[in-house]
Order: sequence, then structure tokens, then C-alpha cells
Amino acid sequence: MEFTKYKQFINGAWVDAADGGAWQVLNPATEAVVAEVPFCHTGADVQAAIGAAAAAFPGWRSTNAFQRAQLLKKVAEAMRKNASECARVTTEESGKPFIEAKGEWIVAADLFEWFAEEAKRSYGTVIPSSRNNKRMSVIWQPVGVVGVITAWNFPVWNLARAWGAALAAGCCIVAKPSEYTPLTAMLLVDIIAQQGFPAGVVNLVSGDAAAIGDALMDAPEVRKVHFVGSTRVGKILLDKASRTNTRLSLELGGNAPVLIFPGVDIEKVAAASVAAKFRNCGQVCVSPQRFLVHQDIYKPFSEAVARFASQYKVGNGLEEGVQVGPLINRKQQQHVAALVETAVAGGAGVLAGGAVPDWLPQGYFYRPTVLGGIDEASPVFSQEAFGPVMQLTQFDSFDKAIALANATEYGLAAYVWTNDLNTAIHAGEALEFGIVGINEWTPHATEAPFGGWKQSGQGSELGHDGIFEYMEKKLISIGGL
Ligand code: ADP
Repeated sequence: MEFTKYKQFINGAWVDAADGGAWQVLNPATEAVVAEVPFCHTGADVQAAIGAAAAAFPGWRSTNAFQRAQLLKKVAEAMRKNASECARVTTEESGKPFIEAKGEWIVAADLFEWFAEEAKRSYGTVIPSSRNNKRMSVIWQPVGVVGVITAWNFPVWNLARAWGAALAAGCCIVAKPSEYTPLTAMLLVDIIAQQGFPAGVVNLVSGDAAAIGDALMDAPEVRKVHFVGSTRVGKILLDKASRTNTRLSLELGGNAPVLIFPGVDIEKVAAASVAAKFRNCGQVCVSPQRFLVHQDIYKPFSEAVARFASQYKVGNGLEEGVQVGPLINRKQQQHVAALVETAVAGGAGVLAGGAVPDWLPQGYFYRPTVLGGIDEASPVFSQEAFGPVMQLTQFDSFDKAIALANATEYGLAAYVWTNDLNTAIHAGEALEFGIVGINEWTPHATEAPFGGWKQSGQGSELGHDGIFEYMEKKLISIGGL
């Protein structure tokens, strides 16, 4: 497939920034420039995109779900067909190992297919009326123009879960990808554009985040904003949503606990823990972060994870066999280093890593790190690391484990490892998180709901419910019959 060069996409045309601004996308593994993209410093381009989306909406909403599904399935097929080529670019701008990037494109393709099918099942209801001369039914209709602001950690999956659902529902979108990973978004738009969507249905802008965010929140035509990113920015959007009562879906931070109970196969769980922790260099909102280990198995478990973590190969994600790439940028690398330093100053033990790899002078690398002896008072316990840091804390009873696990403002994912049915069921019910994985690391799935409790977010994505986040419920009542 021929890809267009990297630009914004507004009303069916590839365009530069209205103010001529540009942004260099860096490869976090080499610090070399991957490409230059437009970057608008004002709200001009996003205003044009909102106008285009609003103009396209009446036509797009009147297509039926089967027609939209046909186009969306073509998108999914093209994504699968071009997954290797696209994943290369995703690795170059995000740093994640190629194999992870390719897997991400495939799963993102599944999302388009899933929502294409779900749109056909966005059933309404007929309500039995208390009056004989009246009939009532509830139908679902697309919410309207949707703004989508996303983070860099899953450059294509983050887009697909919102774009797929919104387009399937009959909404038009104005999307702003992270400034660190715009190329992946531009590739996806290119794939979409080549399948025959009407102009204005999908628009992509690149530029100043606050200016774009403000324009989206101010515009009455933008009925909903889907956001993936930090809790800090999520709260800014929550404040701004009051201006035009913009509906919000928020997928924010996490600080996932992992409860490990006695009786499990320590070597096996340790190996899988390390693989789960260092996936995407720990830059995952559902990343296992606070490992809470029963005191009876703490020593052998900590030794095993330290051994496995030390064996992980760090490097450029395009190199064969690399398991851990760089962090996304210098700021994130410094954040992780500072967090580890503070933990160590507070008494934590470094069981593996704990430093920038001195054999990789270029790029934003940090060694897979295991910290032992962490307690509730340590900043690393309460802050989201969003990096390759595994931390171990001991517990002595079920109740203490649950209390430690719930001692966070976040509530996205939690994990439990046990061979005891009672422990599994009671822990699953007691944890204050939207997603609980028991004896597994990937409880999230295209076909299952995904959403955070507490300060981790609002709304439920994916699964059967996901599409309804982009639809409004309408009661039609016929009286006087
Ligand atoms: P992260 O730390 O994961 O990058 P951010 O919340 O900083 O998370 O960024 C997530 C997305 O939000 C990015 O696309 C970023 O450009 C955007 N963003 C940052 N600040 C704002 C803002 N004030 N309003 C709207 N979007 C913003």
C-alpha cells in the first residue's frame, strides 16, 4: 500500500498547519529525527476540522450500520495486511519492540471489526406502557462530532478503540494524537482514507494540545470527547466539560496491585510477572506496578524476579531479540530515575537494574529494575511509575493484602495469583478496580468491558457496551392512539 506523507487530514485533504508550524518526531531509541509533521500553534486547524466533521455528520449518520460495517471491515483488513510496514513506524516513534508494535496493529484491527459488528446490534427497546393509548420505544442514535485525544503508549490501539466505536456508531471524529506518536495516527488515517469514507468523517489535527483541547471543549458541535492520558489532563478536561456539557470518556492513570499468595508456582509466576511488567517498558496504564507478595514466599519470589529481570535484553526495538525498548522521552526517563532514587534513599533495596544502561548512551533507556522492601509510605508506592520498575512489598494476611492493594487513588487494573478458590473469589470481589485479572496478565479483551474506577477514569470502553458510549438514548412516545 502507498502511504501519503505525514500531514494533518482535514475534510478529506492532507494539509499543513495553518500557521506553518512543524514538529520533529524523534526516535526515542536513537534521538534521531524520524519525520517532521505539521504542528499548529493555534486553534485554527482544529476549528476547520470541527467544521468539516459537523458538515459531514448528517450524511454519515444516515448511512446504516451495515454500510458502515462494510467500510470498517475494509479498514481492519488493510491494517492487518500492512501491519508489518506500519509497525516499523510505530516502533521508530514510540520505541516499543517491533513484535509488540505489530501485535498492537493486529489487535487494533480487531477493534474495527468488532465495532463494525456491534453497530448492527445496537438494539433499542420497546417499553410496555401503563396506558392503552400510548406506545413507547427507546432508540440509540450517534452522539455527533466526537473529539479524540490520545496518549503515545499505544499509538494505534488507543486510537482504534475510540475511532472504531465512534465511526461504527455513526459519529464523525476530530482526533489529536500524542505529539510523540503522530506518524502512527497518520498511517491509520491514510488506511481509512483509502477505503472510501466521505470527506469530513475522519479528521486528524496535530498541534498545541491545550489549544486543541480548548477548541474541542468549547465547540457546541463537539458533543463528546474521548481522552486517554494522565489523570492531570483528564481533570482539566473535566473542568472544561462544564462549558457546553461535553460528554467525556476518560481513560486515565493506574497503579495496579498484584497480589501473590502462597502455593503458586513461584518460578512460573515470577517469569510471567517480569514479562508483564516490562511490556512496553512498563508504559501501560494496566501495567502491574505494586507487587504485594505473601511473606512466606517473598524471598524466593524476589530472587526469581531479580534473576529474570537482569536477563532481559534492552535496546532498539527494531533489533532482533530486544525485549525492552526506551522510555518515550527524556522527561519520562528522568521521572523514572528520580522515583528510583527517592525509593532507594527511603530504604528500598535495588535487586536488579536501578540505572540508565551505560552501554546505551543514546536514547531514553532505563534498565529493567526490581526494588525490594517497599512500604506504603514510599512515593513509588503511590505514584504511577509508567516505566520499567517492579516493586515488592510484603504482606502477612489476606485483609492486609487487600488494604494495601486498595490504598491508592487509582482503580483501573489489579491482578491476583493464587491456587485457592476462596482467595480468588474474595479478592476478586474486594478489590476496588474496574478490571481484575486472576491468574492471568491480560484480563482486557476486545470483547470485554474496559474502564477505571476512582481517579482512573469514566465510562466503559470495548465489549458490547463500548459502542453505546458514542450514542445517545432517545425515548419515542406515541400518544393519543
Ligand atoms: P502522558 O503523560 O501519558 O503523555 P498526557 O495527559 O500528558 O499524558 O497526554 C495525553 C494526551 O493529552 C496527549 O495527546 C497530549 O498532547 C494531550 N494533552 C496534554 N495537555 C492537554 C490539555 N491541556 N488539553 C488537552 N489535551 C492535552
